Parts: sequence; structure tokens; C-alpha cells
Amino acid sequence: MPSSPPIPLIRQNIEKAAKDSPLAHKRPALLAACKGQGREAIEAAIAGGITLFGENRVQEAQEKWPEIKKMHPEVELHLIGPLQTNKVKEALALFDVIQTLDRPRLAETIARVQGSELGVQGKQFYIQVNTGEEPQKAGVLPAEADGFIDYCKNTLKLNVVGLMCIPPADQPPAPHFALLRKIALENNVAQLSMGMSGDYETAVRMGSTCVRIGTALFGNRMAD
Ligand SMILES: *Cc1c(COP(=O)(O)O)cnc(C)c1O
Repeated sequence: MPSSPPIPLIRQNIEKAAKDSPLAHKRPALLAACKGQGREAIEAAIAGGITLFGENRVQEAQEKWPEIKKMHPEVELHLIGPLQTNKVKEALALFDVIQTLDRPRLAETIARVQGSELGVQGKQFYIQVNTGEEPQKAGVLPAEADGFIDYCKNTLKLNVVGLMCIPPADQPPAPHFALLRKIALENNVAQLSMGMSGDYETAVRMGSTCVRIGTALFGNRMAD
């Protein structure tokens, strides 16, 4: 973490962008994307007022978070990276929110584990949409989103609260944020997880309810 935490500045930027736009949510949440960050950086972010954290890998989170959570029960932990079906039990035991629900088999496994294990209920889910239709990227295709959201909510009874996207790195993000917002409105889904270090102000103007910030908070990562 840089010597003077830029949290107040980022919060100011979010607030300003929210005031700028009629589409904006009144108080978008700031989630710290803390992959690759150690205990000290995470503790500093908590001291700076961050209560939402996102990890990309179940195993890394299992190594870091049980202790931090014990000390800071107010903190909410989100999974923002891909989830393998064989890690569902561990993920549900540790994370409060899974932002990367992206395929029927994963959703079915989650529903089954929630129905058979103790202590893994009451979780919230975001469906990841591959707005750029990139073959290497996770997420349901926009054309399949309505059906998948309906399946997760109504057939599997999962608590789907939002949608999440990661726009293609080489395109302007605004059309992707607009598409995610449109799908959410059409499906009566309230939360929009969109916006990262490079585009969070745009995302806030387009209605983001949760920006996921890594680099701008913690500085550059050694590796992902
Ligand atoms: C790493 C990561 C972020 C944060 O990215 P930055 O550009 O460093 O802010 C956000 N979302 C996801 C899914 C990530 O993996």
C-alpha cells in the first residue's frame, strides 16, 4: 500500500462522479481487490475504512482470510475470480458473496451444496456477464443472460442480487457498462459490480453500485 492511502481520494472521485450523472447510484460501494496483497496492506485498508474485499482465488483467500475475518467480523469478503465446481464447498464456507456465477453447472453445484451442508446458506450471488463476448473470458453471453438469471433465481432459488462484468481491455468500457445495466433492469436485479482502477468513474456515472479497485488502492501488483 502506498505510504498515504489514497482511499479518501478514491471516495471523493466516486462521490463526484455519482453527482455528475442522473444514472448514478447515490452511494456506490468501494470494494478493495486485494489479490496478491499481504495481511499488512489489508489491515491498512481496513484501518482506512474499507469493509468490502475481493479475492480472486479460493486457495489464496483460505490462506489469508480466516484470521483477518476473526479480527474484523464487519468485513465482507467477495469472490471476484473464477470458481471451480470442486471448490464450491470451501468458497461458500469462506466468502459472503460470490460475484462470478457464470455457468449452469456451477449454479447447480452451489444449490446442491447449500442444500446439504451446514453454515453455507445466506450467501449472495452476482452473475458474471461476458459483455464483450470474449472467448477467453468467463461469464454468460449477453444473449443467454436472461435465461441464466431466471434459472438461478427461480429454479435453483439462489439469492441473485446483482450482475458483474469485466469489459475488454482494448475497448471503451461505457457501452459494456450500459449493456450490463440494461440486462439488470430487464431482469429486476439491483446490484451492478462494474468499474476497476482505470474506469471506475465511468462505471459510477453509468450506475455502478460496487467498484472493484486494486491498483489504485494498493499500487502495482507483482503478478496476478
Ligand atoms: C484485479 C481485479 C480488479 C481490480 O483491478 P485494478 O485494475 O487493479 O483496479 C477488479 N476486478 C477483478 C475481477 C479483478 O480480478
